[in-house]
Amino acid sequence: MDRQQEFVLRTVEERDIRFIRLWFTDVLGILKSVAIAPAELEAAFSEGIGFDGSSIEGLTRVYEADMIAKPDPTTFQILPWRGERHGTARMFCDILTPGGEPSLADSRNVLKRALAKASAQGFTFYTHPEVEFYLFEAPADPLRPLVPVDQGGYFDHVPRGTAHDFRRAAITMLESMGISVEFSHHEAGPGQNEIDLRYADALTTADNIMTFRTVVKEVALEQGVFASFMPKPLPDKPGSGMHTHLSLFEGDRNAFHEPGAHLELSKVARSFIAGILTHAAEITAVTNQFVNSYKRLWGGAEAPSYICWGHNNRSALVRVPMYKPGKGNSSRVEYRAVDAATNPYLAFAVLLAAGLKGIEEGYELPEGAEDDVWELTDAERRALGIEPLPTSLDAAIAVMEKSELVAETLGEHVFDFVLRNKKQEWDEYRAQVTQYELQRFLPVL
Ligand code: GLN
Ligand code: MG
Ligand code: MG
Ligand code: MG
Repeated sequence: MDRQQEFVLRTVEERDIRFIRLWFTDVLGILKSVAIAPAELEAAFSEGIGFDGSSIEGLTRVYEADMIAKPDPTTFQILPWRGERHGTARMFCDILTPGGEPSLADSRNVLKRALAKASAQGFTFYTHPEVEFYLFEAPADPLRPLVPVDQGGYFDHVPRGTAHDFRRAAITMLESMGISVEFSHHEAGPGQNEIDLRYADALTTADNIMTFRTVVKEVALEQGVFASFMPKPLPDKPGSGMHTHLSLFEGDRNAFHEPGAHLELSKVARSFIAGILTHAAEITAVTNQFVNSYKRLWGGAEAPSYICWGHNNRSALVRVPMYKPGKGNSSRVEYRAVDAATNPYLAFAVLLAAGLKGIEEGYELPEGAEDDVWELTDAERRALGIEPLPTSLDAAIAVMEKSELVAETLGEHVFDFVLRNKKQEWDEYRAQVTQYELQRFLPVL
């Protein structure tokens, strides 16, 4: 038993923990949990805990349903919302096959494989997410109009608003679980909020995002409101994105930073950006995985629709934030397409793979766009070589299906599962006859 595992066993004893939840994430980014008793911990560390994976989205084919969850002791945290006495703690798990091999269907493992590839080239991948979400009056009934908890806008300080208390409670809970929060504020939509997590290595960030979503849902329940990470819940209001800041480090040195270069961006950074731009369309079905995601991407309100980059340009897909003199380590690029409902493990894996591809192949970065790209005409955009992002899940799947990069990064199993699942979602969606169609056509046709 290693020191981390011993630490977990000791803490469970000292803090009177009665339930240990083993957490993992299905291919669609939904958190799964199974609770074990403290007496099972030693076995869980040495052999893992067997479970039936056949009902978990994307995890197994029915004929190989037995899977093993092996907890990662470095992710041990007590769940603050379960109280002090007879407490509950959680650990994220790696999923193994009955033979003890890492499961090819485990999203956490997909990210680990991508990170190992970066590490073989001397890089550590850091991410910093800005997570947006809405707060609605509870219960949120899908058949009735949603009622946001306030009418605030961007950075508004809403007097006596629910949102302050909400953010305060959520942030306190996150911090008590070792997750640092950098900023939080009211977002542009009514009832919409944003909380930004401090940057960390991509695996930690992905775990933190899963915890974040759970904490936000728990605090919402406690405060009698409903929280949603749906990309576009209100048709005429901004969607909820998860802009993600990306950087590569070589040891302690930020590999994106080069003093004296244009925007202080190193060649590595320029090729990385070129990589994510070149492969942006292919990875969109992963970063924006639901039919609803495309209503955000094509609904304006500062969501990106066109593939280009710019310095401080909020209409661009990739933004290079203002450089702070003397802060070379903060050099980074912001990818703005990702939405708040993505599977963070898979999204970070494909973003990293696209960036690394740019570095390996020495892709050249095109000219940055300093205009508002939404204001340009199609012809002007074409002249500048600016292509659109896929406009629907259907279009995104069609590009992903042909992508060697995505197939290789996700691995055959996850790649096939995502394609099958998303095609089914699209087929169900397009079979709908909507309220819009009835109102628009019934009176005249
Ligand atoms: N909500 C916007 C989006 O969907 C972002 C708004 C902002 O952070 N400036 O991406
Ligand atoms: Mg922000
Ligand atoms: Mg924002
Ligand atoms: Mg941002």
